[in-house]
Formats: sequence, C-alpha cells, structure tokens
Amino acid sequence: MNVKSVLKQIEFKAKKRLGQNFLHDEMVLDAILSHADIHPRDTVLEIGAGLGILTEGLSETAGSVISLEVDKVLYEYLETRFKNHKNVHILLQDILKFNPDDLPDQNVKVIANLPYYISTPILTHLMKFIRKFSLILIMLQEELAERITAGPGSKKYGSLSILTRFYTQAEIVAHVPRTAFYPSPGVDSALVRLQVLEQPCIDISDPEGFFRIVRAAFSHRRKTLRNSLLGSGKISAEKLDAAFRATGISPTLRAETLSIHEFAKLAQFLL
Ligand code: SAM
Repeated sequence: MNVKSVLKQIEFKAKKRLGQNFLHDEMVLDAILSHADIHPRDTVLEIGAGLGILTEGLSETAGSVISLEVDKVLYEYLETRFKNHKNVHILLQDILKFNPDDLPDQNVKVIANLPYYISTPILTHLMKFIRKFSLILIMLQEELAERITAGPGSKKYGSLSILTRFYTQAEIVAHVPRTAFYPSPGVDSALVRLQVLEQPCIDISDPEGFFRIVRAAFSHRRKTLRNSLLGSGKISAEKLDAAFRATGISPTLRAETLSIHEFAKLAQFLL
C-alpha cells in the first residue's frame, strides 16, 4: 500500500497526537498475519484501523473483523473503503471506552498496530476483559515490548510484566524498524504475541489485591522489598515481617528479583 499517495488522495495529514503512524511495509504486514494464524471461524478485534492496511489483510481470512477507529475522517474513509466487505465492521470508537464484553463472540483475537501514546492504558484495559480473548498480537514501541516480556532479574521487569505473565504467555515475535511506518514514529517497534492462558498462571483468590501488592513492591525500585511495601501505608510492619518469616523470602531483596510465584506466596499472607 502506498501510504503517501493515499494520504494525498484523501487530503489527510497524519495526527501525531493520535499516534497515526501507518504501516507501509508489506513484509511486516505478512509477518503480523502469519503470527495471527487466522481461521475462517475467527472474530478479530482491530484497534486503530488507520488507512485499513491490516484490516484488509485480516478480512481475507477471518470470519469477522471489528475495527475501531477514533478519528472521524479516517472512519469515514474506512466506511467507504470496506463497504463491500461483508465481514468488516468499522466502529467510530475510542478503545478505552469500548467494552469488549459487548462483542457477541468468545475467543476473540485482538490484532493491532497500537497507537503508541496510549499503549499501556490499552493493554491494561484489555487485561480487564481477558476472558473474552484467546490471543493478543500487538505492535508496540520496542521499549514497552521489552518491559512486558521481561523476567525477574532484569531492569525492565516490573508490575506490567507481572500483569501480563499472570494472564498470558508473552513473547516478542518480531523486531520492526521505525521505517516500516509512515510517518516514522521515531522509535523502533516490536510485535508481541500474548497467548491467553486458560487459567491465570497462579492461583490467587483476590487478583486486585495481588496487583496492589505488586505495584507497591515496585513503587520504589531502589528500596528493599520491605521498605517499599511498608511505604504503601497499607500493610503493618508486624504482618509484613510475619509474611517474610513464613515464606522464607528475604525482606532485603528488591522487587525486581522476585518471580510471580514468590509474589504470590507473599500475597497469600498479606491479603
Ligand atoms: N492499523 C493502521 C496501520 O497499521 O497502518 C494504523 C495504525 S496507527 C499506529 C494507530 C491508529 O489508532 C490510528 O489510526 C489512530 O487514529 C488510531 N487511534 C488512536 N487513538 C485511538 C483510540 N483511543 N481508540 C481507537 N483508535 C485510536
């Protein structure tokens, strides 16, 4: 797709504030489609359809493609472009105000080149409806992709890595140069595949409480685990010290060294 000539033809100037960096590299498009592994029975939710390059590719195989676009001008362009595609439904919709539970189908696949200015809120939003999805395949800025997929011991490991690990098996499946998009986003990207687990990877009765503890633990990365958790003001020193004794986890460790299973052990005593 020649992005520049389509933009010229519809007299549209990409809006930076909406993260409008349009994919124009066909090899990257093929990589996305092959990792999406779409079947005719699949329902796909696309976030930010843009000029429709990915929408078109998805529509060739998927049973149904629901594509959200928040920009009214692009929405109108897409409506015209896909009016003869019976399996494509374009919605003028902000993803953060969209309730995936309104979709009639289950095991929905989310496939998207995300607008980078709100990638983290989008990811957090999707996690709230995770039972609706079987796969999330998203293009992100490389730095965020690395944070999501990081494991214990890495400087990039944090509460977002744990949230992702809780519900999914995450991996970076492709590194994508900034030149694959027009206009270039100014940072390189990575395609992340999140395979949704049938059950969360740990058995926790109160996931909200668990994530509160994880966020508190990472709130001051340079402090010890004990001081970070005490700093949250929500847990007494007695309770915390009893949890460290019972689990055998050292209070002087830093949050970034703890696995999700160790966090779960601590949470069992703190919740
Ligand atoms: N899918 C297209 C592609 O691959 O070329 C466009 C990708 S572009 C990185 C992100 C798109 O998301 C833009 O078209 C932008 O208008 C749209 N967008 C931005 N914020 C959005 C939001 N809150 N909800 C839905 N779409 C949004």
